[in-house]
Amino acid sequence: MVLAGHAAGDLVAELDLPAFGQHSEGDVVFERMSREAPHRFPGMRQEPQSMRLAGGTAALIRALMRDLPAGSLHFEARVARMRLTGNGVELSVHRTDGRRETVRATQVIAAAPPRILAAAVQFDPAPEPQTLRRWQDTPTWMAPHAKVFAIYDRPFWREAGLSGTAQSMVGPLVEIHDATTASGRAALFGFVGIGAQQRARLGQDELLAACVEQLARIFGPEAAHPRATLYKDWAADPLTATTHDLFSAGHPDGSGGEWTPGPWQERLTLAGSETSPREAGYLAGAVEASRRAADVVAKRLAAVPAEMSRG
Ligand SMILES: Cc1cc2nc3c(=O)[nH]c(=O)nc-3n(C[C@H](O)[C@H](O)[C@H](O)COP(=O)(O)OP(=O)(O)OC[C@H]3O[C@@H](n4cnc5c(N)ncnc54)[C@H](O)[C@@H]3O)c2cc1C
Repeated sequence: MVLAGHAAGDLVAELDLPAFGQHSEGDVVFERMSREAPHRFPGMRQEPQSMRLAGGTAALIRALMRDLPAGSLHFEARVARMRLTGNGVELSVHRTDGRRETVRATQVIAAAPPRILAAAVQFDPAPEPQTLRRWQDTPTWMAPHAKVFAIYDRPFWREAGLSGTAQSMVGPLVEIHDATTASGRAALFGFVGIGAQQRARLGQDELLAACVEQLARIFGPEAAHPRATLYKDWAADPLTATTHDLFSAGHPDGSGGEWTPGPWQERLTLAGSETSPREAGYLAGAVEASRRAADVVAKRLAAVPAEMSRG
């Protein structure tokens, strides 16, 4: 993940997290057709340079978790239902170990894509039809995509004067970059250019084998022997993508006013990146939307006498 947008950069600076520039020195490779050898071109300097977080995006999550009161995070827990009560919201939580529990709150912030809320959470009462339609029509940026990582002992492509950046019209990977970590663990990653349904039909093993073969075509025979490969298909993740996301969608538009008008207005605030008026869909949008949601909820709580805020 590369960091783009001021809000993301500002948060990284605020949390004092080390970031480093995306490696882009060296030639880039373009694979135009299967019957032609890949072409090599001098790379262009990136302006502004894309930045990556040392430790990956998870470092940001870990830093945000640090100051939360103990016990406030519940992992492996899915909100299946939200019900408005006289003085708040009752959330039905399904745990992956099969346990069910009810959580009561006066204010709820849903930091998830609106499309997922519409598909995965049952609301009582249901949001107004036009609100629900807006949630369903808001694409979750990048949700239809899948990434492949190949991990190596050393970044041998750099030694050959290659940046690790490649574009391909042959596939299966269409865009490849150097993914070597800040600590020097060498890796390449690429976006799979095959649609979600075809990926599911092909299966992970066949797809990975074709990707590694392509890496060897582009970066040479050493690329045929990664130490390990990683595959993540977001379209297959039910808390990221819905059936609407199986096909490539446009970029979300977070502007356009209130996301929870009607019965839920005073109790539920959306904070998914897609709901941000700026940088919607990006990590920066998630930061903006969360800050805005926290402000809204803090003001509401400040306006309510303490004894009434206990749901
Ligand atoms: C392949 C890919 C590449 C990307 N590359 C970039 C990039 O280079 N730069 C960039 O800025 N952004 C990138 N993004 C986008 C970035 O990941 C998102 O903008 C960001 O993750 C949005 O954060 P969020 O908190 O709004 O939602 P999410 O990160 O989607 O988090 C929502 C969380 O809520 C959970 N959840 C959902 N429903 C429920 C429920 N009912 N109950 C409990 N939990 C639930 C989900 O499991 C998830 O953990 C990329 C995204 C993808 C998929």
